[in-house]
Amino acid sequence: MTSSAFCPPNRVLMGPGPSDVPASVLRALAAPTIGHLDPAFLELMDEVGQMLRDVLGTDNRLTLPMSGTGSLGMETCLVNLIEPGDRVLVGVNGVFGTRMVEVAKRAGAEVTAVEADWGTAFDEAQFVKAAAGRQFKLLCVVHAETSTGVLQPLTPIADAADQVGAMLLVDAVTSLAGVPIEADEHRVDALYSGTQKCLSCPPGLAPVTFSERAESVLSSRSKPVQSWYADLNLIRNYWGSARAYHHTAPINMMYALHEALRLCVEEGLDERYARHALHGRALVAGLQAMDLQPRVEEAIRLPQLTTVAVPDGIDDAKVRQHLLQTYGLEIGGGLGPMKGTTWRIGLMGASATRRHVMLCLTALADALRAQGRQVADPVSAASDAY
Ligand SMILES: *Cc1c(COP(=O)(O)O)cnc(C)c1O
Repeated sequence: MTSSAFCPPNRVLMGPGPSDVPASVLRALAAPTIGHLDPAFLELMDEVGQMLRDVLGTDNRLTLPMSGTGSLGMETCLVNLIEPGDRVLVGVNGVFGTRMVEVAKRAGAEVTAVEADWGTAFDEAQFVKAAAGRQFKLLCVVHAETSTGVLQPLTPIADAADQVGAMLLVDAVTSLAGVPIEADEHRVDALYSGTQKCLSCPPGLAPVTFSERAESVLSSRSKPVQSWYADLNLIRNYWGSARAYHHTAPINMMYALHEALRLCVEEGLDERYARHALHGRALVAGLQAMDLQPRVEEAIRLPQLTTVAVPDGIDDAKVRQHLLQTYGLEIGGGLGPMKGTTWRIGLMGASATRRHVMLCLTALADALRAQGRQVADPVSAASDAY
């Protein structure tokens, strides 16, 4: 049997990732594949490493993209730093904290999960109290919780990590290139991210960075890292001067990441953060005009991922189906306990534009009216916000 070539439908991506991919990033993917030890490719790797340091706000030597999605970034940080029996504190206020607990346990850690309500952020005292006077090896938090739309301030968490003697591990999958990350300033020891959120690259690479302290913990492990594929002791020999083969880098994805990072630098990081903030505010103004209330208080609300409550009497799945079928527009539904009751609207990277905001508001108003709800015009409210 032969099938016809796959042709994806035209979509506007405003969910929790992936986001719309700029044409130049797609063109980069389509460039000719070269060898992963070709001198030209090695040069590209060095540039990717340097641009990653710039967007992460770090001088860490060990900064590279892992060959996999954000979850491999999570797994990489955890399996490289944890040895069986190590004590690990994990902040759980959404799906991704929950996932970190699972991965850390599988790596043999003795995990203390610090729970907080979904839609809230942590303060220093919650971790210190949960530590109960004990020392921990790692303290893990999610910087931008994509399941809830919460931005976690890092300064109090870095203070908590110091108090319990722990290294600080940060999930920056959704924060990278959407809100400021200053990894060195916030004394972050290990951080992972992904490419398909605010970097607006297809999914497939997971930037990670390790501080000098984390690198020395890695070098002085008593047992080899349990995962051969994610072993940074091996992978850093390919990224370092030895250029020793470990696995074949996803060459064309690296072209794409290079282009996506280049676009960030070209735009300017401050300008990029300001753009996310501006469109996030306008989106919320439009949603509120339709009486759709954001789930997260303003001070800790992510501009790049807005969660709103599905109004009573409205069918969540039907609304999202209407948006997709009528407008080619994808937004996200709720995860876990928020399933069926929450929409997650992404304004990530190339999807953070006035055009996206206005299309989403118009389409949502139409979908709500299709279910018999009277809604006010969201577009003028959003215009006023600009
Ligand atoms: C998307 C996401 C992940 C997982 O990334 P994948 O690319 O789906 O593996 C982890 N953490 C956060 C906060 C995310 O938003």
